[in-house]
Amino acid sequence: MKSFCSNCLSLVDCDMQFFKETYPVKGEDVTIDARICTCSVCGKRLWNAKLDEENVEKAYRAYQHKHKLLLPAQIKQIREKYQLSQSAFAKLLGFGEKTISRYENGYIQDEVPNNLIYLVNDTNAFMLLYNKNKDKLTEAERQRIDRVLRQFYGCSTTYYSGEMYSFNSMRCNTNIVKFTVMNTEDNAS
Ligand SMILES: [Zn+2]
Repeated sequence: MKSFCSNCLSLVDCDMQFFKETYPVKGEDVTIDARICTCSVCGKRLWNAKLDEENVEKAYRAYQHKHKLLLPAQIKQIREKYQLSQSAFAKLLGFGEKTISRYENGYIQDEVPNNLIYLVNDTNAFMLLYNKNKDKLTEAERQRIDRVLRQFYGCSTTYYSGEMYSFNSMRCNTNIVKFTVMNTEDNAS
């Protein structure tokens, strides 16, 4: 990697070194081991756009780690578990349509949306929310989720509608019981 050195007045090779650097993240100082380009001729620290981006990214992830927030890759993993697009997942959670896309691209989520995503990693919690918000999704999105949930529970027919259940395994049965207990109000109406 090369950078321009204002000391040597030429494009020089980078000698990569680590320095403790502090970045402001959401009003908080986060210190990381930042990778910095130094001039291979005179040793001066040089600014490099690509490295700066990499260091800011590292500071963001350090902030998320410190606050026990899900990392972008983990959010993506939870969404993909249900085979949902970013916008469908956002609609289901009650977020703005672009929100999940922003989180997966590194934007730091607040604690409340973070906790919601964290909870729906649990399939029972996901089903409760899905039952409440399924009207927000398209027919195609609903069909895809139905297929995924059937695979999770190993049930042969629809198990989440509150009307009719069919079990073909104890594991499925157990999960459904838990689910129906939590949905008593819905079923009574
Ligand atoms: Zn130099």
